[in-house]
Amino acid sequence: MIAGGVIITIDGPAGTGKSSVARQLAKRLGLEFLDTGAMYRAAALLAIEDRIDPSRGEALAARIADADLHFEWSRQPPALMLGDRDASARLRDEAVDDIVSEVAAQAPVRRLMVSLQREIAARHPRLVSEGRDQGSVVFPEALVRFYLDASPRVRAQRRHDQLLIDGRDVPVEEIQRSIEERDRIDSTRTVGPLRVPDGAIRIDTDGLAQEEVVSKLDAEVRRRIPTERLDSTAAGGLAR
Ligand code: C5P
Repeated sequence: MIAGGVIITIDGPAGTGKSSVARQLAKRLGLEFLDTGAMYRAAALLAIEDRIDPSRGEALAARIADADLHFEWSRQPPALMLGDRDASARLRDEAVDDIVSEVAAQAPVRRLMVSLQREIAARHPRLVSEGRDQGSVVFPEALVRFYLDASPRVRAQRRHDQLLIDGRDVPVEEIQRSIEERDRIDSTRTVGPLRVPDGAIRIDTDGLAQEEVVSKLDAEVRRRIPTERLDSTAAGGLAR
């Protein structure tokens, strides 16, 4: 890690509210936020658009490398860009949900993403990074590593409520099946499987409101990282 850097990782399965929690935690701590799920979702979108079979890891990785996948950090939250195109609005499409775990299971795709994520951290060294492998593979030296969990039913209900806000009424049972299938693929793949990172602080979010989760994480971070280090403005990020 870069001197003066502060990296915090949050891993866990789909539907634990990781993204929202990570974003709010980053805001409270004055850090930037990296949504690595968005990167895998963008890879899935490229597969769909270019009709690349999700099992063709090398072809996918070549396409991703060619697509200039990066974040536009001047937007809040940062926008996922494919070249000049802001792809953020497409990343939650059902078609993306359907294949993203298979895309993310391909070794060449993961190799590329891990190196992109480390490059991002080199430019943005004060970061809350959220995903499935951030504390276990990408940033094992992170100062604080969290693992968020919740029961499948609660996770499905949360996703259901979130989709309703977007005007999509999908039955909870259907969402739960899709979440469990993604969990199965994510935790049984050979490269970078979803698991609790060594030394991670595990938080069960069942029955906790989002603000309560954020407060818990905030308190754990402040207990472990001196205020001067958190408040440091010495290591400001670059443009990309
Ligand atoms: O977090 P989100 O639901 O957006 O992630 C979408 C998918 O991307 C996950 O189901 C997982 O297959 C993959 N992913 C991953 N490693 C990460 C982040 C996401 O494999 N670090």
